[in-house]
Amino acid sequence: MKKHTAPNVEKETMKNHKSGLFQSDVFSRERLPPAKKIDRDAEERQSVLREWKDDHEAQKLAKLAYALGVDKIILANREIDEDYFQGQYLYAGDSHAFHKTSMKPWSLSTRQLATIKRALRSDRDVILLAYESDFAVTLAHELGHHINNRLEGLSDSSHVTESMRRVAQFDEYFFQNKDEFYAETWSRFLCGGNNRTLFRYLKRPFDRLRRKHPQKTRLILELAKRCAN
Ligand SMILES: [Zn+2]
Repeated sequence: MKKHTAPNVEKETMKNHKSGLFQSDVFSRERLPPAKKIDRDAEERQSVLREWKDDHEAQKLAKLAYALGVDKIILANREIDEDYFQGQYLYAGDSHAFHKTSMKPWSLSTRQLATIKRALRSDRDVILLAYESDFAVTLAHELGHHINNRLEGLSDSSHVTESMRRVAQFDEYFFQNKDEFYAETWSRFLCGGNNRTLFRYLKRPFDRLRRKHPQKTRLILELAKRCAN
């Protein structure tokens, strides 16, 4: 499964953030002449797109994502459920049925759906980000899934051990399988974390990546270094 759970703290901030968005939306609507019909969804979309473009951290990660071969990053609304998934990595190598299930909770426009289908059919991968998500953190995690799957950073033999649990101290969600564990570890690394003990687990994935994708590996290291400084 390729999903991301936000810690409770973030959930709270995002709720506030959402209501803020909503209020300014209402305010601007009141000031506009009533004759003019306003599409609320379009307004919200515009405001989210502005935030996305102004988020430098997220933009750097987006640039890296495209350089690593992600075909499309799509911002969309998602029904907020109890688990609060903020992002979704759609790997073209997964089954059609799995793609369908993964896309179900997302409100995707006809155009977005067509874009996604076209990408997956041509063996290219897509990342979905929720409007309310912390763009950088979520994108970094989904990009971790891309490194695991598309760039083959994960090996068949790796698995989540007790010492990984102790070192990482992630939310329980990220220990359900090695794909989640490594996606989250890549996320911490790409976001400039400095947990050397945790990043030891990236040594083998890095060795594999270097052999298969030397140029892409350099880009990953460059971004992580920039973030850490
Ligand atoms: Zn995940």
